[in-house]
Amino acid sequence: MPEKNFTFIEEVRRRRTFAIISHPDAGKTTLTEKFLLYGGAIRAAGSVKSRRSQKHAVSDWMEIEKQRGISVTSSVLQFEYDDFCINILDTPGHQDFSEDTYRTLMAADSAVMVIDCSKGVEAQTKKLFHVCKMRGIPIFTFINKMDREGMNPFELIEDIENALGIRSCPMNWPIGSGKNFRGVFNRHKNQIELFNDGNHGQSIAKSTTGDMFDGKFKDLLGDALYDQLLSDIELLDIAGDEYDLDEILSGNLTPVFFGSALTNFGVEPFLESFLEITRPPQPRSSNLGYIDPESSNFSGFIFKIQANMNPAHRDRIAFLRICSGKFEKGMSVNHVQKNKSIKLAQPQQFVAQDRVIVDTAYPGDIIGIHDPGIFNIGDTLCQDNSQLKYTGIPQFAPEHFATVSTPNSLKRKQFVKGIMQLSEEGAIQVYRRPHAGMEEVIVGVVGVLQFEVLEYRLKNEYNVDINMHMLPYRYIRWIEMDKFDPANFTLAMDTMLAETKQGDPVVLFQNEWSIRNVLERNKGLVLGETSRLE
Ligand code: GDP
Repeated sequence: MPEKNFTFIEEVRRRRTFAIISHPDAGKTTLTEKFLLYGGAIRAAGSVKSRRSQKHAVSDWMEIEKQRGISVTSSVLQFEYDDFCINILDTPGHQDFSEDTYRTLMAADSAVMVIDCSKGVEAQTKKLFHVCKMRGIPIFTFINKMDREGMNPFELIEDIENALGIRSCPMNWPIGSGKNFRGVFNRHKNQIELFNDGNHGQSIAKSTTGDMFDGKFKDLLGDALYDQLLSDIELLDIAGDEYDLDEILSGNLTPVFFGSALTNFGVEPFLESFLEITRPPQPRSSNLGYIDPESSNFSGFIFKIQANMNPAHRDRIAFLRICSGKFEKGMSVNHVQKNKSIKLAQPQQFVAQDRVIVDTAYPGDIIGIHDPGIFNIGDTLCQDNSQLKYTGIPQFAPEHFATVSTPNSLKRKQFVKGIMQLSEEGAIQVYRRPHAGMEEVIVGVVGVLQFEVLEYRLKNEYNVDINMHMLPYRYIRWIEMDKFDPANFTLAMDTMLAETKQGDPVVLFQNEWSIRNVLERNKGLVLGETSRLE
């Protein structure tokens, strides 16, 4: 906790809220843990792992929570570094990949993309990248595991540009690789930064820093590495994109850093550069225009709702991103969508490894609010009665579909209620065949685990058994047309026309080829990859 007293404005300006995105195993958890180590929030990296049977690190919340007997997953953590207050939003990656992973990105002001140097850009990184790109937030790249043999750094840069379609600007350049990874050349400061093993990554790595032409580096590195560096730098000046702060801040250029989260090499220069470049929370768009975070009117929006799977605690936690004003425990706010005043009594925050009751919080912070079932994804809370609504969170395209019904016709009402509530909460997306009722619905999810959650929750919370049949579709597209005329619309055999709960038309496809086919058959058709923002 900060010892200094900051004014409200200073509190806002020292906030940095970012999401960390990657494909599983690229090193997201390790890097997060090293940020905490450098911020002084934990004393030795790996300490959490060892306490928890060597298996899980700090941000593997789900497992940790399970072992603590709390089954609500949190996915935010806050720590201090210098005078900055940093919020990291974790994006779950493995089996629990879901819409929540995407929605989390809606609450972030920037993203850090972790890439394994031996693998380059991988599938899940691509998906998450696209959502960040859609938002136009700055995206930083950390190429990890440089202590292992991997692709050539030039190839990695090219891979990022080709696979993601973003220009890149190397901020530092690796000196050596694999066992010979010694440090980085900081292009901005024009200096060499060599690291010494920080006790196998357990403690902060010591560094030797200085001008690249300082004679000692030739001795320290040996002729071969030093000469390699000089020739790399020459090439870089010709090949790389130039540093352009505005382009970085608008998400068109990604600054690239090399390092090793495991050995801590390059972690600190990355963090420092990241903090120098990123901005505090910026004004957010709403139905009333852009809302200044430094305004005294408290406001925020719900971006994620986490249900408690434990039948003994059937409450839910709604995650709120604060966008303006100061939050104080116990304050009453206006729930704009429900037009109702509510008291925020026991809000929680996630500081380093612990969940605490929070007394005050500021724009950029995320708080968890107990949800007795009154919140939906995208809801706005604000202090005054201004009817302020933050721009909605889109529905992200599910990738797995199933028809779901209940075998027990006497339970139909409960079934519909459960399905509707779970869909409002954002746990599933619901469609139906055109003009059909709700006896049989089509459920779409981003991660297959959500089907299990659906079955479990309908049984436990609504006492309803279900029949579920997997459908072969993998893609959904929203038909973007003011007046959609099904009579003048030709579909392919392997597709399905359906509609959303609101009656908007969507098409389910089995593969990308089939999407192209339908686009060719229907001139002028526009297919959206997410629903329209409200
Ligand atoms: P996540 O799935 O992205 O959270 O990845 P983890 O942080 O759990 O890392 C996956 C594996 O890669 C673990 O065995 C880590 O110890 C290892 N790892 C992470 N960072 C590095 C690194 O910089 N170098 C090496 N050699 N291994 C790493």
